[in-house]
Parts: sequence; C-alpha cells; structure tokens
Amino acid sequence: MYSPEENTQWRKPVNRMSVGFFPTPLHRLNKLSEMTGYNLYLKRDDLSGFNAYGGNKIRKLEYLLGDAAAKGCDTVITYGATQSNHAMETISAARRAGLYPIVYLISLVTPDENDLRGNLLLDTLFDAEIHIVSPDGETMAQATERAHILAEKRIAQLEQEGHKCYDIPTGGATEVGSVGYITGYCELMDQMDALGEKPDYLFTATGTGGTLAGLTAGKCLRGDNVAIVGIQVSPKTDEYGDHVAEIANGALSCIGRNDIRVSTKDFQYTPLYFGAGYEIPFEEANETIRRLAKYEGVLMDTVYTGKGFNGMLRYLEEKNVPKGSTVVFLHTGGTTALFAEKEILGDLIQF
Ligand SMILES: *Cc1c(COP(=O)(O)O)cnc(C)c1O
Repeated sequence: MYSPEENTQWRKPVNRMSVGFFPTPLHRLNKLSEMTGYNLYLKRDDLSGFNAYGGNKIRKLEYLLGDAAAKGCDTVITYGATQSNHAMETISAARRAGLYPIVYLISLVTPDENDLRGNLLLDTLFDAEIHIVSPDGETMAQATERAHILAEKRIAQLEQEGHKCYDIPTGGATEVGSVGYITGYCELMDQMDALGEKPDYLFTATGTGGTLAGLTAGKCLRGDNVAIVGIQVSPKTDEYGDHVAEIANGALSCIGRNDIRVSTKDFQYTPLYFGAGYEIPFEEANETIRRLAKYEGVLMDTVYTGKGFNGMLRYLEEKNVPKGSTVVFLHTGGTTALFAEKEILGDLIQF
C-alpha cells in the first residue's frame, strides 16, 4: 500500500496504490510528423488502466486511493458529467482496490436509460452507486455544487453506519492527485532521454487543471525548460492559472519540496480551440480525429483529446513554432466517448 518513490528528488514518501500499468508507452507519430513538419510524439496515458480505456485520472487515483486507504476509508465518492471519464476511472480503480464507489453525475446530455452508452454503461457494469443530477437550468458548476450537498447527506448516513468515505472533487484535481503527474512527467522525460530526444513542447487537453499542474510541478522539479501548454476544453475563470499553480505547489509540498515553487509563468493555457463549449462537438477537431485514425491508426475523443490535439496543431501553426521542433502530446484517454450519445460525437463519422 505504501511505496517510497525511488526518485531521489523526493524528500517525503507519499502513499500510493497500484491501480494502473506504468510506464505507459511513448511513440512517434510518423505520418503526422511528415505531414506537419514537426517531430511529433504521443505519450499513451490512454493505456494506463486495468479497464480497457485507462486515461489520465489513473495516475491521480494511484495517490488519491493510496491516501484513502491510509486514512482507513472503505468508500470513495466523486463527481462529473454522465459521460465523465474521471467518474468511470474512479469507479474502475475503486473496484480494483476493493473500495465502494459512489458517483454523482450531472446529465449535461440526457442519458437514455434503455440504451446506456459510453462511460455510463461502464459505470453501471462496474455496479457503482450512481446518482444522476439533472441540471435544472443550472450550469455544470451550479449542478455540481448541488451534487455536493446531496453527497454530504449520503456521507453522513454512511458514516453513521460505520463507513468511512473519501471525497474526491471533480477531475481528481487535488494536490495529492497531481503528484501522479509529477511521476508522469518524470516517466515521460526518462523515455524521451532514452530515445535521445529533447521535447521543445508538451501539450495536453486541460479541464480541471490537475494534469497541467502535475506536469508543471515535474518540470520545475527537474529544472527543464520545455514549454508546457494546456489546450482548454471549456471556458475558465480568470483565476484558472493561479488555481493550477496552487495545485502544482501543493503537489510539490506533498513530496517534501517546499523549496521549489511553480508560478503561472511556468506553463501556458489557451481558450482558443474548444469550439462552442464542453461536450459540444467541434467539426474542426472531428476532422483531426479522422486524420489521426486514418493516418496513424490512433483513436482520440471528441470532448478532450481531439480538441486538444487539433488545438496543438493550430497553436504550432499560429505561433510560428519552428518546423522540426520536437513536440509531445499527452494522450489522456477518453475514447469511450466514441461510443457515447450522438450529441457528443456530432458528425464524426462521414467517410
Ligand atoms: C479529465 C480529462 C482531461 C483533463 O484533465 P484535467 O486534469 O482535469 O485537466 C483530459 N483528457 C481526458 C480524456 C480527461 O478525461
């Protein structure tokens, strides 16, 4: 349950539970590199998990569930949309760890009870305790707030029955969770080193910001100067950058490195490439998903990685990043969305 990191840069061990397969593969995108003139690599965190779909939340969950177990919890609770990858990955990892999973899911897209799709189908197969919260004219944030109030009641009830609950916020975006991406970043750089490559850029789709925070903490820990860019998949408030830096610093503190501090200058994030909004299909990103499928045999999703990868290509072009630059895209998973509701896919299939 408790494994001190081998990495000598860590000054404090952190509780960790093994719920994934690491290291994940890293490979070059040969055709896309030829087509775009960039030296493109893909880090396959979509292949991280015990279930067939993996994703970036697994790295966070190794530390979150490690923390839960250390605190003697037997139940985990989390939040997301009905097609949330985070919720599905939490449920799957909790089942692997022998913890009881409870999720509060906001139905941004109304699921059809008689034709469950994508992650909601999997959540049901894993036999999680599922509470659907329909946003009644509320935003995702407002509905999530209401879900937290409902969850508090359920937690009180469970604790009265003698259970101990571990509450994980949306996306697992906490300092403990982000320790997973300090590890993830270091793993990636070791793999690039072994290939004799040095990345100029590292891109990821960014939502709750925990992944971006952990990657940046890893970069500051190693003292690298790779440009880390988060492609937003939804609108963010002005505090987003500070929020990401705060999680990054919290993660560094978790590993005993209060001496290293992240500032908002250590990473970038851009709202320019998500189209109309979260879970709303973006035809330009769909075109990129088709291109990756056709030329690389790689699958990406319409909510996160398709928008992220497409945003990356546009960023490289628009910022006149020199051709030949070495660029890594972190594949954060999410491909279960390919089997989700049509509202989430848009006109993806049109060969
Ligand atoms: C959650 C998620 C992200 C965003 O990660 P954050 O840490 O929440 O920013 C990106 N891609 C996929 C597929 C995800 O499920």
